[in-house]
Amino acid sequence: MDLYEHQARELFEEHGIVVPRAEVTDSPKEAREIARRLGGRVVVKAQVKTGGRGKAGGVKLAADPAAAELTARQILGMDIKGHAVGKVMLAQPVDIESEFYVSYVLDRAAGGFLAIASAEGGMEIEEVAATRPEAVARVRIDPAVGVTSAKAQEIAAAAGLPPQTVDVLVRLWQVLVREDALLVEVNPLVRTEEGRILALDGKVTLDDNARFRQARWGADEAGHSDPLEAAAAAKGLNYVRLDGEVGIIGNGAGLVMSTLDVVAGCGARPANFLDIGGGASAQIMADGLSVILSDPSVKSVFVNVFGGITACDTVADGIVRALETVRLTRPLVVRLDGNNAARGRAILDGRAHPLVEQAATMDGAARRAAELAHTA
Ligand code: GDP
Ligand code: MN
Repeated sequence: MDLYEHQARELFEEHGIVVPRAEVTDSPKEAREIARRLGGRVVVKAQVKTGGRGKAGGVKLAADPAAAELTARQILGMDIKGHAVGKVMLAQPVDIESEFYVSYVLDRAAGGFLAIASAEGGMEIEEVAATRPEAVARVRIDPAVGVTSAKAQEIAAAAGLPPQTVDVLVRLWQVLVREDALLVEVNPLVRTEEGRILALDGKVTLDDNARFRQARWGADEAGHSDPLEAAAAAKGLNYVRLDGEVGIIGNGAGLVMSTLDVVAGCGARPANFLDIGGGASAQIMADGLSVILSDPSVKSVFVNVFGGITACDTVADGIVRALETVRLTRPLVVRLDGNNAARGRAILDGRAHPLVEQAATMDGAARRAAELAHTA
């Protein structure tokens, strides 16, 4: 789970990293008030969970409170790489002397953490790494030891950062450990004309497995960035949105994953991953179908069920009852196999919904769902 910049900023501040004074709002009028409180001149920054806001016009300087209101109104209406801007942060501007890049990231392949740092901050680090790889230092961190003052000195020296950054490097590691983060990044970390070191931008990715002890980040603010995923999670469904056109419902994660493969093998792209698990009640079916059908890119839906403890006739009953509450707007291909498959198929045949058809095999059903998606 990624945090917004203003949330990352809050964590940095709590751990003693100096950040500019700032406040967040969703209202241009309030932006004017905030600018007044901050001394008039402010930087207005879009709060979206994607980088490159500066380039996209989502970071702008406003000279006075009136300009801050105007700029906030502009930025609040923006869409940055598919992310609608719901809030802006107004921050006291900082006179930058130099910009640095620092981050700690979990390196799964190496089984440890990696410090990445560069004296050429401000721009995207991928760009620096591509054009001037020697300007980006990578230092391995033993997770059992962490970033001590000595380690921080090693990182700063490797990247050519000034010695004043050592303290920030140690504190940033504490953010990572204490807040259960998989990534902490500051770009830019700046030195001002007076030699002060400030974090001007922050990205923090929390470990979802530690969600239970990081309850302060509510699901709405920091949870699912995809509204459909959020709606599904609220209904207790295990749903992941993908970018294809065939909606997929299956019982059991293994079956759903093979279904994705088979659909892809038929030349179509899965629109989602939806595992209804062992329970295939009418309610779960209705919830699952309504989530999938609210994705406009879905052209057909493939329900793939292998009856085990939950028998196919129960699933078929669930589908029939779901059709009473959900208006089916796109074709549904159902494959029932396993426990009580024949009875389940008979129930669906009896319902004879014009948009529901059955297929005897998983391959056949996938082919049909792909075909329907392509002719839609
Ligand atoms: P990003 O584009 O999403 O990474 O957003 P940033 O918060 O990093 O802002 C982009 C750039 O705007 C930074 O690299 C800075 O150069 C500049 N910037 C942000 N805040 C300030 C500020 O207070 N003063 C000055 N002079 N520049 C700033
Ligand atoms: Mn940045």
